[in-house]
Amino acid sequence: MHNVVVLGTGPAGLTAAIYLARANLNPVVIEGPEPGGQLTLTTEVENFPGFPEGIMGPELMDNMRKQATRFGAEFKRGWVTSVDLNSQPIKLQVDGIGEVLTKTLIISTGASAKWIGIPGEKENVGKGVSTCATCDGFFFRGKKIIVVGGGDSAMEEANFLTKFASEVRLVHRRNDMRASKIMQDRARANEKITWSLNCTPLEVEATGMGVTGLKVMNNTTGQEEVIKTDGIFVAIGHNPNTSFLNGQLETDETGYLIVKPGTSETSIPGVFACGDVQDHRYRQAITAAGSGCMAALDAERFLESNGIH
Ligand code: NAP
Repeated sequence: MHNVVVLGTGPAGLTAAIYLARANLNPVVIEGPEPGGQLTLTTEVENFPGFPEGIMGPELMDNMRKQATRFGAEFKRGWVTSVDLNSQPIKLQVDGIGEVLTKTLIISTGASAKWIGIPGEKENVGKGVSTCATCDGFFFRGKKIIVVGGGDSAMEEANFLTKFASEVRLVHRRNDMRASKIMQDRARANEKITWSLNCTPLEVEATGMGVTGLKVMNNTTGQEEVIKTDGIFVAIGHNPNTSFLNGQLETDETGYLIVKPGTSETSIPGVFACGDVQDHRYRQAITAAGSGCMAALDAERFLESNGIH
């Protein structure tokens, strides 16, 4: 039986693993199908402190993994199919491993950006298509950008991107938007933002060198047009990766795990959550890493205070 199992190997899970390994708790880290998480989908990371020249996302994650390994964290590849969080020890069924028993569990399975699902989209991720304005906006200085979506994320990303872009065009499939009034008003007041409402994205156009346009259909007229652009930011929401929990932990109305404010404690003692699976607000590598540290310290204190380590 393990002291602690960490699910997920983004910045949250790997930071938790570093702290747990250095506390001699012999953490076992279960890596899913996307080792390293969302940062492995981005190129240069310029806002993670400690790297004055920036660092490539995959390299940053590789470094964190090596750091956790150096202190003795054990990595296993597998896909968690079900969990029993109410038993003690906690039981996990993991494809490729079998049953795993642990005294405490840290959930850092992250969130996955939603994609539109149109041709040319996935192929051009990192070449002009992005789901993270904070990560990639800087690369579009003086360029034309499209933001897809009609929620708060799209409004926020569009406003943020006007700091860099010469023009930001918001493309949304309906006339009405889900975004809160204040966010819409802010975006409408921004002279650099133009609007293509009631337009459904059909295809990303690109040369081998990068994105050149977005083909859309006007839903009123049925007419298709290509909007020329250098970059496309897809801001249509995220899905927290919690389906394997089968409703055993409290979530908010959008499915994100709820933690006790200022801690990583979930609704079940001994089960902790960190990173994007419990945070739709900040969603940054550095905030995920910080919350991973909190989860490790919380798990360590839980083991000590319950006299089970
Ligand atoms: P959201 O509110 O679910 O909005 C997603 C938007 O993307 C909708 O306009 C939706 O269109 C569109 N969309 C979904 N699937 C699409 C597809 N396949 N093709 C084209 N468009 C598609 O998601 P969100 O904006 O990420 O916000 C999520 C939550 O975080 C919300 O509660 C929001 O308030 C919160 N948030 C808050 C802030 C803030 O307060 N600063 C910032 C960001 C997010 P339809 O409307 O037609 O379905």
